[in-house]
Amino acid sequence: MEKQTRSIVQDSLNALMENQDFLPELQEQRRKKAFTSLSAILSTPNKIHKSFLRIPLDDGSVVRIPSFRVQHNDALGPYKGGIRFHESVNEEEVVNLAFLMTLKNALHSVPFGGGKGGIVLDPRKYSERELNLIARKYVRYFSDVIGPDKDIPAPDVGSSAREMDWMMTEYKKITAGNPYLGSFTGKSIENGGSLGRREATGKGVYFTFRYLLHDYIKDNEQQLASSDNVFAATALSLYNRPLTMAVQGFGNVGSIAALEAYNSTHINNRVVAVSDRNITLYNADGLDILSLVEFAATNQGDLPNTAEQLEQAKVTAEIRGRDELLTMPVDVLLLAALENQIHADNMQDIQARVIIEGANAPVTQEADDYLSEQGVIIIPDILANAGGVIVSYLEWLQGRETQYYSEEEVFRLLLEKMKNTMDLVFPQFFGDPLPLRQNCYIHAVKRLSTILYRQGHLY
Ligand code: GLU
Repeated sequence: MEKQTRSIVQDSLNALMENQDFLPELQEQRRKKAFTSLSAILSTPNKIHKSFLRIPLDDGSVVRIPSFRVQHNDALGPYKGGIRFHESVNEEEVVNLAFLMTLKNALHSVPFGGGKGGIVLDPRKYSERELNLIARKYVRYFSDVIGPDKDIPAPDVGSSAREMDWMMTEYKKITAGNPYLGSFTGKSIENGGSLGRREATGKGVYFTFRYLLHDYIKDNEQQLASSDNVFAATALSLYNRPLTMAVQGFGNVGSIAALEAYNSTHINNRVVAVSDRNITLYNADGLDILSLVEFAATNQGDLPNTAEQLEQAKVTAEIRGRDELLTMPVDVLLLAALENQIHADNMQDIQARVIIEGANAPVTQEADDYLSEQGVIIIPDILANAGGVIVSYLEWLQGRETQYYSEEEVFRLLLEKMKNTMDLVFPQFFGDPLPLRQNCYIHAVKRLSTILYRQGHLY
């Protein structure tokens, strides 16, 4: 996966260079040198911190849990990115996710760099007391390198406001007397978090889809109809008609995005399938997402997975195999679970015409190339799922000002920021034959190259 992102970045750099769009003010020889420096800077993280967290368990035994904090690049501001609590976490993955954060923040003009953390564990296997110890130990081990102006962690897969609250409290204790509210984002509202942060990623994900396939087309229909761009043809074929959607993953991102689709009144979209780590639920007439969200909230995040549980949730659906969801005949596939879900072995069976990456890197490059070739629009992670980090930025600002925004204001600022990015990227996307991911990378890398040059890093 790491190589994959790097090669797309390299392609984006090459495209910038070809279009004379890379530091055009420089003379040829100098540009070439700056270009080589930029490739080197982006392809390696600034720092990799790792440690084994030594934790006494409830049963008296002691474990040593591998943990990481990767700081990829801080040209745009303090390092920023979540801490993943998952058993498959490894160094290469964290490096790649940190890299994606650098690009995500650059794309949306969020004044942060890119970082990411990871703890190798299955949080379901630990008690609350043990998880509290793990979270606090993590902060103790990395307290020198994190902080409101250095590196600001947030939740990611397997972590939430609860862990951020614990972590900020530990940071406050260690650095007594210093500002601490901005040391972690994604905290609970009561503990200095922002209204709307929990829903931000899912809301943003749905918004990118809606803006791409509705609002943007509405304003540019004529122009798109006269272009011979393959993605414009796909978008127009889906415009102004109710679409069917399948959502992989029913965690913080998938459930909120599905709820947005369910509640949307502008057009009668239907969520016909959702899945979690166990099963897929399918109903061709549309699932009752509100009841599913309520059920999951009281069942450790799981969807109903027996006839009895469906009855208890008052939901009508067929129970299917977990991965069946990916290849169902739907218009839109929203991926909100983990990376590498669509790959060489299943890419030929994908029927959706639009794929939205709510998770980070759920489509491999090979699958992306193949599907893009067929005109499938893939809304990439760094565009679609940036709502979380955008509202993290608003949380960090509110913590500095100790002034809090209303939920309405938070969502207004969030959608405005995402809209600005899309208005910048879409004209190019519908104008040239490059996939949306490549277009987003080009914008992100261009922004980074200018800043890195001004800061004197490109020699
Ligand atoms: N973990 C989220 C992401 O991948 C949010 C990061 C943040 O808020 O810093 O974008």
